[in-house]
Amino acid sequence: MTQSDGTADGAAGAIRNWAGNITYTPKELHRPDSPDALAALVADSARVRVLGSGHSFNTIADPGADGVLLSLTALPPLTEVDTAARTVRVSGGVRYAELARVVHEHGLALPNMASLPHISVAGSVATGTHGSGVTNGPLAAAVREVELVLADGSLLRIARGEDRFDGAVTALGALGVVTALTLDLEPDYAVEQHLFTELPLEGLDFETVAASAYSVSLFTDWRSPGFRQVWLKRRADQPLSDFPWAAPATEKLHPVPGMPAVNCTEQFGVPGPWHERLPHFRADFTPSSGEELQSEYLLPREHALAALQSLDAVRELLAPVVQTCEVRTVAADAQWLGPAYGRDTVALHFTWIADTAVVLPVVRRVEEALDPFGARPHWGKVFTTNTAVLRGRYPRLGDFAALAGELDPVGKFRNSFVRGVLGE
Ligand SMILES: Cc1cc2nc3c(=O)[nH]c(=O)nc-3n(C[C@H](O)[C@H](O)[C@H](O)COP(=O)(O)OP(=O)(O)OC[C@H]3O[C@@H](n4cnc5c(N)ncnc54)[C@H](O)[C@@H]3O)c2cc1C
Repeated sequence: MTQSDGTADGAAGAIRNWAGNITYTPKELHRPDSPDALAALVADSARVRVLGSGHSFNTIADPGADGVLLSLTALPPLTEVDTAARTVRVSGGVRYAELARVVHEHGLALPNMASLPHISVAGSVATGTHGSGVTNGPLAAAVREVELVLADGSLLRIARGEDRFDGAVTALGALGVVTALTLDLEPDYAVEQHLFTELPLEGLDFETVAASAYSVSLFTDWRSPGFRQVWLKRRADQPLSDFPWAAPATEKLHPVPGMPAVNCTEQFGVPGPWHERLPHFRADFTPSSGEELQSEYLLPREHALAALQSLDAVRELLAPVVQTCEVRTVAADAQWLGPAYGRDTVALHFTWIADTAVVLPVVRRVEEALDPFGARPHWGKVFTTNTAVLRGRYPRLGDFAALAGELDPVGKFRNSFVRGVLGE
């Protein structure tokens, strides 16, 4: 997130997202420094959105010109680990890099991470952010309790097992301000990262390849059929399986061709702590290419090969605008708005060049190609899927709308992005 004037509270200057393609223009920007100040700000404002670490590529966090944007970075950052219960309670502004360090110090671990640790926990689970692995749900699957400041400034806790919980985590920021989340942990584990090159698309046994390690990512730039890179993240506490379909990499690699591998987590099978191997990018370096847009579509895993073949058929359209495309898997999720809701999923991700006008027509072409497979767009990335299509893709969207109406009857947290999703 960049802010042109670096001002604190009050009138907002130009505030941009990480990619720089979205400029938020709120009436006011506030960084409350206590829970009471936060509750009072929410209660006294007509329209509110929270900005996490600003890594989304669309207007999901934008409160609009008449709204208030809240940043939680001035609140005390809590990461309270309960080693006996194997849980951590983390406050709303904390990023995964900071959380992971504390959890690891306690001899515990998160089940999975996204490609980068720079993102906030609350913002990530709000958009259905995920890593990879056929047995790994999205990051929201680790959440066992959510604490929200509602429109009137009151606090509500919703725990796993309660009726409303499955609508309350991947909630697009539409229910209230998430002040804390409690996450499940597991015993600390080590991971080795093994890279391979040149995996052909022809004859690909996707199910077997995707299940060949704890977390598997395939990368292509669509300049040729097949995958230039395969990243396997193997847990040291799980049995090794061979990977006979591609050749081991002979040098360290970055998923975006031409970018320096020094930005990436350790490779060549050197074992290391989970949080220094599960993300592709190191916490203290620029993730990805830094000059980019992103889109991602999630569809039933059984259609992975057919969907890849559909994209291969438009490879000459993709190649000029793609920096890299990543294929991952996500286990079925229970969150109503989770892009992996109810189905074991393959996630087809695109890192585009940083040119919205050139990229958007290709985004639409990709959506057409993936339409027969019931693709759901990643909530934090560039997409053009309309409300009618979303309604067909998310069977619990109506239940989510009812929950948003119940918890926020005046629509204080509903910006134009959320209203578009809900068809209001
Ligand atoms: C380089 C890069 C790599 C990425 N890699 C991955 C990846 O591997 N996997 C993947 O799935 N996605 C990935 N993403 C997308 C990213 O994970 C999502 O955009 C995610 O939402 C980012 O979190 P954030 O805190 O920056 O969210 P923001 O963009 O700041 O906010 C997202 C939403 O969360 C809401 N929100 C944030 N904090 C709160 C809060 N405390 N209370 C209420 N609402 C809140 C905001 O209002 C907004 O609606 C990547 C993005 C980038 C830039």
